[in-house]
Amino acid sequence: AAAAECPADREELGRSTWTFLHTMAAYYPEQPSAQQRRDMGELVRLFSRFYPCEDCAKDMRERLETRPPDTSSRCRLSQWMCGLHNDVNRRLGKPQFDCSRVDERWKDGWSDGSCD
Ligand code: FAD
Repeated sequence: AAAAECPADREELGRSTWTFLHTMAAYYPEQPSAQQRRDMGELVRLFSRFYPCEDCAKDMRERLETRPPDTSSRCRLSQWMCGLHNDVNRRLGKPQFDCSRVDERWKDGWSDGSCD
């Protein structure tokens, strides 16, 4: 029988969410308006109140206190998101991601052409 489609567990939800968050940052404006900056700050904060993994959400709320989102540009937001994800990676014992390659991973594809 075909495998049933089941509710997302913490890992699957995490992978899908990081895909969304990094891709959203990758396409945020280079020069956001004051309104766009406020909106993105709010989105990140609201997200941390509703993310449906309570431990993850609580951890994220604590991180936001000490490291608020840098919404000043596409580049800064992408780097901020990479740093947040690396903090979570560290806590979970996962490898650190090289943040200089965040655009290759989430926007342009690897420079060796493997995504073309
Ligand atoms: P993921 O960590 O999901 O990463 C997906 C892909 O993103 C990787 O394959 C890699 O290509 C890329 N990537 C990795 N690191 C970076 C980076 N720094 N910047 C850019 N791209 C990167 N799980 C828990 O068990 N406990 C938690 O407290 C917890 N908190 C979370 C908080 C948030 C906000 C989110 C979104 C997820 C959280 N998770 C948590 C889930 C966890 O982070 C992983 O998503 C999950 O364990 C699956 O991991 P993975 O190895 O498949 O890769």
